[in-house]
Amino acid sequence: MKRVGAHVSTAGGVENAPLQAASIGAKAFALFTKNQRQWKAPKLTTSSIDAFCRNCDDGGFRPGHILPHDSYLINLGSPDPEKLQRAREAFIEEMQRAEELGLILLNFHPGSHLKEIEEERCLHLIAASINMALDATKGVTAVIENTAGQGTNLGNRFEQLASLIDQVDDKSRVAVCLDTCHLFASGYDLQSTEAIESTFMEFDRIVGLRYLRGMHLNDAMQPLGSRIDRHASIGKGTIGMDAFTWIMNNPACEEIPLILETPDSAEWHKEINLLYSLER
Ligand SMILES: [Zn+2]
Ligand SMILES: [Zn+2]
Repeated sequence: MKRVGAHVSTAGGVENAPLQAASIGAKAFALFTKNQRQWKAPKLTTSSIDAFCRNCDDGGFRPGHILPHDSYLINLGSPDPEKLQRAREAFIEEMQRAEELGLILLNFHPGSHLKEIEEERCLHLIAASINMALDATKGVTAVIENTAGQGTNLGNRFEQLASLIDQVDDKSRVAVCLDTCHLFASGYDLQSTEAIESTFMEFDRIVGLRYLRGMHLNDAMQPLGSRIDRHASIGKGTIGMDAFTWIMNNPACEEIPLILETPDSAEWHKEINLLYSLER
Protein backbone atom coordinates (compact mmCIF):
# COMPACT_ATOMS: atom_id res chain seq x y z
CA MET A 1 0.00 0.00 0.00
CA LYS A 2 0.99 3.60 -0.46
CA ARG A 3 2.04 5.39 2.72
CA VAL A 4 1.03 9.03 2.33
CA GLY A 5 1.54 11.41 5.24
CA ALA A 6 2.92 14.79 6.21
CA HIS A 7 5.67 16.43 8.21
CA VAL A 8 3.69 16.92 11.41
CA SER A 9 4.24 19.05 14.49
CA THR A 10 5.79 17.74 17.71
CA ALA A 11 4.36 20.52 19.87
CA GLY A 12 4.07 19.15 23.40
CA GLY A 13 6.55 16.31 22.71
CA VAL A 14 7.59 13.82 20.01
CA GLU A 15 4.87 11.46 21.24
CA ASN A 16 2.27 13.81 19.75
CA ALA A 17 3.53 13.38 16.18
CA PRO A 18 1.82 9.99 15.55
CA LEU A 19 -1.40 11.39 17.05
CA GLN A 20 -1.24 14.40 14.73
CA ALA A 21 -0.58 12.10 11.78
CA ALA A 22 -3.48 9.79 12.62
CA SER A 23 -5.81 12.79 12.97
CA ILE A 24 -5.27 13.81 9.33
CA GLY A 25 -5.65 10.30 7.92
CA ALA A 26 -1.92 9.85 7.32
CA LYS A 27 -0.33 6.41 6.87
CA ALA A 28 3.20 7.76 7.33
CA PHE A 29 4.74 10.86 8.87
CA ALA A 30 7.86 12.95 9.21
CA LEU A 31 9.00 14.88 12.28
CA PHE A 32 11.84 16.78 13.87
CA THR A 33 12.96 14.90 16.99
CA LYS A 34 14.31 18.19 18.38
CA ASN A 35 13.97 21.91 17.65
CA GLN A 36 15.33 22.15 14.10
CA ARG A 37 16.68 25.68 14.57
CA GLN A 38 18.75 25.00 17.69
CA TRP A 39 21.93 23.00 18.26
CA LYS A 40 21.15 21.74 21.74
CA ALA A 41 18.15 19.74 22.87
CA PRO A 42 17.16 18.09 26.14
CA LYS A 43 17.51 14.31 26.10
CA LEU A 44 14.39 12.34 25.20
CA THR A 45 12.79 11.03 28.39
CA THR A 46 11.83 7.37 28.82
CA SER A 47 8.19 8.30 29.23
CA SER A 48 8.23 10.34 26.02
CA ILE A 49 9.90 7.48 24.11
CA ASP A 50 7.41 4.94 25.51
CA ALA A 51 4.46 7.14 24.62
CA PHE A 52 5.86 7.69 21.11
CA CYS A 53 6.16 3.93 20.51
CA ARG A 54 2.70 3.26 21.93
CA ASN A 55 1.10 5.98 19.79
CA CYS A 56 2.90 4.69 16.67
CA ASP A 57 1.61 1.18 17.38
CA ASP A 58 -1.93 2.44 17.91
CA GLY A 59 -1.81 4.46 14.68
CA GLY A 60 -0.39 1.56 12.64
CA PHE A 61 2.88 3.40 11.90
CA ARG A 62 5.87 1.08 11.56
CA PRO A 63 9.47 2.38 11.71
CA GLY A 64 9.89 2.23 7.92
CA HIS A 65 6.92 4.61 7.53
CA ILE A 66 8.42 7.28 9.76
CA LEU A 67 10.94 9.72 8.34
CA PRO A 68 12.61 11.95 10.94
CA HIS A 69 14.35 15.01 9.45
CA ASP A 70 17.53 16.47 10.93
CA SER A 71 18.16 20.09 11.93
CA TYR A 72 18.55 22.77 9.25
CA LEU A 73 21.72 24.01 10.98
CA ILE A 74 23.77 20.94 10.11
CA ASN A 75 26.17 21.25 7.13
CA LEU A 76 27.96 17.90 6.82
CA GLY A 77 30.18 19.32 4.08
CA SER A 78 31.21 22.53 5.84
CA PRO A 79 34.53 23.96 4.65
CA ASP A 80 35.21 25.28 8.18
CA PRO A 81 36.80 22.53 10.33
CA GLU A 82 35.23 23.75 13.58
CA LYS A 83 31.76 24.05 12.08
CA LEU A 84 32.19 20.68 10.40
CA GLN A 85 33.06 19.10 13.74
CA ARG A 86 30.00 20.64 15.37
CA ALA A 87 27.78 19.50 12.47
CA ARG A 88 29.10 15.95 12.72
CA GLU A 89 28.49 15.78 16.47
CA ALA A 90 24.97 17.14 16.02
CA PHE A 91 24.25 14.66 13.22
CA ILE A 92 25.39 11.72 15.34
CA GLU A 93 23.10 13.00 18.08
CA GLU A 94 20.20 13.09 15.61
CA MET A 95 20.96 9.51 14.55
CA GLN A 96 21.04 8.48 18.21
CA ARG A 97 17.70 10.15 18.90
CA ALA A 98 16.15 8.27 15.97
CA GLU A 99 17.65 5.05 17.35
CA GLU A 100 16.25 5.77 20.84
CA LEU A 101 12.79 6.17 19.31
CA GLY A 102 13.11 2.78 17.61
CA LEU A 103 13.30 4.40 14.18
CA ILE A 104 15.38 3.19 11.23
CA LEU A 105 15.64 6.24 8.95
CA LEU A 106 17.07 9.75 9.25
CA ASN A 107 16.48 12.19 6.42
CA PHE A 108 18.99 15.02 5.86
CA HIS A 109 20.16 17.54 3.28
CA PRO A 110 23.71 16.69 2.14
CA GLY A 111 25.50 20.04 2.65
CA SER A 112 26.88 23.20 1.07
CA HIS A 113 30.32 24.13 -0.23
CA LEU A 114 29.69 27.87 0.39
CA LYS A 115 31.98 28.62 -2.58
CA GLU A 116 34.97 27.95 -0.32
CA ILE A 117 35.86 24.44 -1.48
CA GLU A 118 35.48 22.39 -4.66
CA GLU A 119 32.29 20.44 -5.14
CA GLU A 120 34.20 17.17 -5.11
CA ARG A 121 35.94 18.00 -1.83
CA CYS A 122 32.60 18.92 -0.27
CA LEU A 123 31.02 15.63 -1.40
CA HIS A 124 33.99 13.82 0.14
CA LEU A 125 33.49 15.61 3.48
CA ILE A 126 29.77 14.76 3.45
CA ALA A 127 30.44 11.10 2.73
CA ALA A 128 33.04 10.99 5.53
CA SER A 129 30.47 12.56 7.86
CA ILE A 130 27.94 9.85 6.93
CA ASN A 131 30.53 7.12 7.55
CA MET A 132 31.30 8.54 11.01
CA ALA A 133 27.62 8.68 11.94
CA LEU A 134 27.01 5.11 10.73
CA ASP A 135 30.02 3.92 12.75
CA ALA A 136 28.70 5.63 15.89
CA THR A 137 25.18 4.20 15.66
CA LYS A 138 23.32 0.98 14.90
CA GLY A 139 20.27 0.25 12.81
CA VAL A 140 19.55 3.75 11.49
CA THR A 141 19.93 4.40 7.76
CA ALA A 142 21.18 7.80 6.57
CA VAL A 143 18.64 9.01 4.00
CA ILE A 144 20.09 11.65 1.69
CA GLU A 145 17.54 14.13 0.33
CA ASN A 146 17.94 15.55 -3.16
CA THR A 147 17.99 19.34 -3.08
CA ALA A 148 16.73 22.17 -5.29
CA GLY A 149 20.34 23.28 -5.80
CA GLN A 150 19.56 26.63 -4.24
CA GLY A 151 22.66 28.66 -3.37
CA THR A 152 25.63 26.32 -2.92
CA ASN A 153 23.65 23.30 -1.72
CA LEU A 154 24.84 20.00 -3.17
CA GLY A 155 22.64 17.00 -3.89
CA ASN A 156 20.66 18.51 -6.77
CA ARG A 157 22.15 16.17 -9.40
CA PHE A 158 21.73 12.39 -9.38
CA GLU A 159 25.47 12.12 -10.07
CA GLN A 160 26.17 13.83 -6.74
CA LEU A 161 23.86 11.46 -4.86
CA ALA A 162 25.59 8.52 -6.57
CA SER A 163 29.01 9.88 -5.65
CA LEU A 164 27.99 10.15 -1.99
CA ILE A 165 26.62 6.60 -1.91
CA ASP A 166 29.74 5.39 -3.67
CA GLN A 167 31.90 6.79 -0.86
CA VAL A 168 29.77 5.36 1.97
CA ASP A 169 31.27 2.15 3.37
CA ASP A 170 28.05 0.47 4.54
CA LYS A 171 25.74 0.57 1.51
CA SER A 172 23.01 -1.20 3.49
CA ARG A 173 22.57 1.91 5.66
CA VAL A 174 22.49 4.68 3.09
CA ALA A 175 19.41 5.61 1.06
CA VAL A 176 17.74 8.47 -0.81
CA CYS A 177 14.61 10.56 -0.29
CA LEU A 178 13.42 12.25 -3.48
CA ASP A 179 11.58 15.54 -3.08
CA THR A 180 9.40 16.29 -6.13
CA CYS A 181 9.68 20.08 -5.72
CA HIS A 182 13.47 19.84 -5.43
CA LEU A 183 13.67 17.54 -8.47
CA PHE A 184 11.66 19.98 -10.55
CA ALA A 185 13.52 23.06 -9.28
CA SER A 186 16.85 21.43 -10.07
CA GLY A 187 15.80 20.78 -13.66
CA TYR A 188 14.30 17.25 -13.70
CA ASP A 189 11.04 17.48 -15.61
CA LEU A 190 7.96 15.94 -13.98
CA GLN A 191 5.23 17.74 -15.91
CA SER A 192 3.95 14.73 -17.85
CA THR A 193 3.80 10.97 -17.38
CA GLU A 194 6.58 10.56 -19.95
CA ALA A 195 8.69 13.19 -18.20
CA ILE A 196 8.47 11.68 -14.72
CA GLU A 197 9.02 8.21 -16.11
CA SER A 198 12.23 9.27 -17.81
CA THR A 199 13.37 11.16 -14.67
CA PHE A 200 12.88 7.99 -12.62
CA MET A 201 14.67 5.92 -15.26
CA GLU A 202 17.60 8.31 -15.05
CA PHE A 203 17.55 8.03 -11.25
CA ASP A 204 17.54 4.25 -11.53
CA ARG A 205 20.42 4.27 -14.00
CA ILE A 206 22.64 6.70 -12.06
CA VAL A 207 21.71 6.04 -8.41
CA GLY A 208 19.54 2.89 -8.34
CA LEU A 209 15.86 2.66 -7.41
CA ARG A 210 16.78 0.18 -4.66
CA TYR A 211 18.09 3.18 -2.69
CA LEU A 212 14.73 4.99 -2.73
CA ARG A 213 13.39 4.80 0.84
CA GLY A 214 11.18 7.89 1.00
CA MET A 215 9.73 10.80 -0.93
CA HIS A 216 8.61 14.33 -0.20
CA LEU A 217 5.52 15.09 -2.23
CA ASN A 218 5.41 18.82 -2.92
CA ASP A 219 4.21 20.79 -5.88
CA ALA A 220 6.47 23.71 -6.85
CA MET A 221 5.89 27.47 -6.97
CA GLN A 222 8.59 28.12 -9.56
CA PRO A 223 9.20 26.89 -13.13
CA LEU A 224 11.37 23.92 -14.13
CA GLY A 225 15.05 24.46 -13.34
CA SER A 226 14.52 27.59 -11.21
CA ARG A 227 16.77 26.24 -8.41
CA ILE A 228 14.41 27.98 -6.00
CA ASP A 229 13.05 25.84 -3.16
CA ARG A 230 9.43 26.96 -2.78
CA HIS A 231 6.81 24.30 -2.12
CA ALA A 232 3.21 24.55 -3.34
CA SER A 233 0.14 22.51 -2.36
CA ILE A 234 -0.53 19.41 -4.47
CA GLY A 235 -2.16 20.42 -7.77
CA LYS A 236 -1.66 24.12 -7.12
CA GLY A 237 1.84 24.49 -8.51
CA THR A 238 3.90 24.23 -11.66
CA ILE A 239 4.38 20.42 -11.54
CA GLY A 240 0.70 19.49 -11.93
CA MET A 241 -1.11 16.22 -11.24
CA ASP A 242 0.47 13.80 -13.75
CA ALA A 243 3.55 13.28 -11.58
CA PHE A 244 1.52 12.56 -8.45
CA THR A 245 -0.78 10.18 -10.33
CA TRP A 246 2.28 8.33 -11.61
CA ILE A 247 3.83 8.11 -8.11
CA MET A 248 0.59 6.87 -6.54
CA ASN A 249 0.53 4.02 -9.07
CA ASN A 250 4.21 3.15 -9.08
CA PRO A 251 5.40 -0.06 -7.37
CA ALA A 252 8.74 1.60 -6.44
CA CYS A 253 6.80 3.99 -4.18
CA GLU A 254 5.05 1.19 -2.28
CA GLU A 255 5.48 1.05 1.54
CA ILE A 256 7.86 4.00 1.70
CA PRO A 257 6.92 7.26 3.45
CA LEU A 258 5.43 9.75 0.93
CA ILE A 259 5.53 12.94 2.93
CA LEU A 260 3.74 16.23 2.26
CA GLU A 261 5.73 19.35 3.14
CA THR A 262 3.20 21.62 1.49
CA PRO A 263 2.60 25.11 2.90
CA ASP A 264 -0.98 24.83 4.20
CA SER A 265 -1.16 22.27 7.02
CA ALA A 266 -4.93 22.80 7.28
CA GLU A 267 -5.17 21.26 3.79
CA TRP A 268 -3.09 18.12 4.51
CA HIS A 269 -6.10 15.95 5.24
CA LYS A 270 -7.62 16.94 1.87
CA GLU A 271 -4.31 16.54 0.04
CA ILE A 272 -3.88 13.03 1.47
CA ASN A 273 -7.39 12.11 0.29
CA LEU A 274 -6.68 13.67 -3.09
CA LEU A 275 -3.49 11.61 -3.49
CA TYR A 276 -5.26 8.36 -2.54
CA SER A 277 -8.02 9.17 -5.05
CA LEU A 278 -5.36 8.99 -7.80
CA GLU A 279 -4.80 5.26 -7.20
CA ARG A 280 -6.20 3.11 -9.98
ZN1 LIG B 1 11.86 17.88 1.37
ZN1 LIG C 1 12.18 22.12 -0.02
